[in-house]
Amino acid sequence: MIYDQNNIFAKILRGEMPCEKLYEDDHTLAFMDIMPQADGHCLVIPKNPSTGLMDADPQVFASLFSTVQKIARAAQDGMQADGVTIMQFNGAAAGQTVFHLHVHILPRKDGVPLKAHSGQMEKSEIIKANAEKIRSAISS
Ligand code: 5GP
Repeated sequence: MIYDQNNIFAKILRGEMPCEKLYEDDHTLAFMDIMPQADGHCLVIPKNPSTGLMDADPQVFASLFSTVQKIARAAQDGMQADGVTIMQFNGAAAGQTVFHLHVHILPRKDGVPLKAHSGQMEKSEIIKANAEKIRSAISS
């Protein structure tokens, strides 16, 4: 698959679309998912373009997963979660809907099932409140 420069995450990276940003460094960006499957659902993307894991430059994985770990820790602490599910989809058949490599971070509470993937838009005030909890738990 050819990388589409106009996919939604490419537009977020270029600042052409808004996002509720949690963290950014030279190689990665973390922001809230607008259709969360769990309270505090967020995403980490590399700035380097690839449609998914298979066509990514392996050099992106160190910085990508360093940020995944940082945000997963903050999501667990900030959301007072009991655990964290990490998900990553490759191809429409696997459930991928946005074709820029991304890693889902889902804070989990005991006994609370995940909501549907790409289900319902969450109210922006709830996303902002959860983002604030996660941001305040990010360690430098
Ligand atoms: P995928 O299905 O490709 O693994 O995940 C794409 C994720 O991006 C979904 O969880 C979906 O809710 C989220 N998403 C789709 N469009 C937008 C958007 O415009 N902004 C944000 N922040 N998330 C989005």
